[in-house]
Amino acid sequence: MRITTDYLVIGAGATGLAFTDSLVAESDADVVLVDRNDAPGGHWVHAYPFVALHSPSAYYGVNSLALGADQVDTSGPNAGFYERATKSEVLDHFAEAVARLEQTGRVRLLPGHEDLGVDGGVRQVRHLRTGDIVEIEVRRKVVDARYLESSVPATHRPSFEVADDASVVPIGALPAAADSARSYVVLGAGKTAVDACLWLLDQGVDPERIRWVRARDAWFHDRAQFQPLDQVAGIMEGLAADAEAGAGATDVEDFFARLEEAGRVLRIDPDVPATMYRGSMLSEHELAEVRRIDDVVRMGRVRRIERDRTFLERGDLETGNDVLHVDCTARGLSNAPALPIFAPDRIVLQQVRHNSPPFNAALLGFVEAHRDDDVEKNRLCPPNAYAASTTEYPRLLARTWRTEELWFGEPDVAGWVAASRLNLLQALPAHQHEPRAQAAVTRYLTHVGDAIARFEQMRAPVPGADSAAPVR
Ligand SMILES: Cc1cc2nc3c(=O)[nH]c(=O)nc-3n(C[C@H](O)[C@H](O)[C@H](O)COP(=O)(O)OP(=O)(O)OC[C@H]3O[C@@H](n4cnc5c(N)ncnc54)[C@H](O)[C@@H]3O)c2cc1C
Repeated sequence: MRITTDYLVIGAGATGLAFTDSLVAESDADVVLVDRNDAPGGHWVHAYPFVALHSPSAYYGVNSLALGADQVDTSGPNAGFYERATKSEVLDHFAEAVARLEQTGRVRLLPGHEDLGVDGGVRQVRHLRTGDIVEIEVRRKVVDARYLESSVPATHRPSFEVADDASVVPIGALPAAADSARSYVVLGAGKTAVDACLWLLDQGVDPERIRWVRARDAWFHDRAQFQPLDQVAGIMEGLAADAEAGAGATDVEDFFARLEEAGRVLRIDPDVPATMYRGSMLSEHELAEVRRIDDVVRMGRVRRIERDRTFLERGDLETGNDVLHVDCTARGLSNAPALPIFAPDRIVLQQVRHNSPPFNAALLGFVEAHRDDDVEKNRLCPPNAYAASTTEYPRLLARTWRTEELWFGEPDVAGWVAASRLNLLQALPAHQHEPRAQAAVTRYLTHVGDAIARFEQMRAPVPGADSAAPVR
């Protein structure tokens, strides 16, 4: 079979879908999406059953379709915060988004198809079950929406060896396997490991039956500072804290000390240095829960797990044959380096504003639809690789703030950003008269220029405009 299209989007995860949604809304383009998975949603298809967004639904998904009802939860662990979609709600959202896109007559999704690259001058994709090849003639561009593909426990290959008789499951298998064990070893230091611990505690497991292997400790953001809409002042306060801490910081360590002092970042154990930064968030409630686990092993990465012994970089531990190991070591966000996003025949979707994957992808769709020149598109959208460690957070912030200033100099881009439901600051203009929001905007504007200068001293210079971005 041979089909022709304007854009071939490889990957129907959050970014491929958000890009397509925005491009189709802003142009007359025809798009073919391909994905190995049988359903849209990317890593969410393989996610553990009890996963939920760690950020509010209000600014997740595709731009043209709301996710949830922008309600503030009144009970439960998320009380007081905007609702967060579960796995099935996220997948339903993406399924509906695809159905609506297909109704335009300009979008086709080929699920269960793998991109094979170019052969004989023609792009080929293969149906994974039948092996049938589809040739795709691409009139404009191939869009790589898998460059930053997430690595999740269900599909990654652990970096440690597992003996045949050892009891090790990915987090997704925890609910089914939990009853088979008397105690648990959670492997990993990020948000997925936190979710495993929270799930066990929520099932009534005594914290003394949980051992937590953390090769390094992580910083988390406080979820209270990522609440949009009527609580947007809190987001502005968080950004003001970033700018204020950055303006005064002598180095990265001092920067994080100031952020912690300001309540901008949290770590599970305040007595242990944290070096990992992935942009994940926790609430005070979740933090208090996981702090109930005292048995934390810091002996480096796991090398091998046997039935009754675990070998780590800096020693080994006796375990027992009634212990279930829960693998939460997949890296989640990709560590791939930044590449130019726009080229004549391809687009490589990447982060631009920090910690906003769907917003970024949708913005790239808008820019692709409204600018002809790739140099100009790349000027407006410089890539901003995901961070893995604390040293990269200053770069994320500086580049985001530089880039936002460029957007605000372009009325159509600024207009799109202001109207987008994926923009976590969308409600700021409506709330900036509030004393909290006003004070935060003032603090941010006072310090952001100095913060960028400090960050550039801490790292290689950030290309872009000379001054800091005003907040709109
Ligand atoms: C557990 C978890 C929770 C998260 N929660 C949040 C959150 O609350 N808020 C937030 O903003 N971000 C969150 N993130 C960040 C997350 O990475 C993004 O939100 C987003 O879902 C990533 O989408 P993606 O399109 O970049 O990648 P993916 O979801 O990984 O999609 C890539 C797709 O490409 C396909 N693919 C790869 N190679 C090929 C090929 N050769 N041919 C065909 N298809 C191919 C894959 O099958 C996959 O479907 C979370 C991440 C994880 C892991």
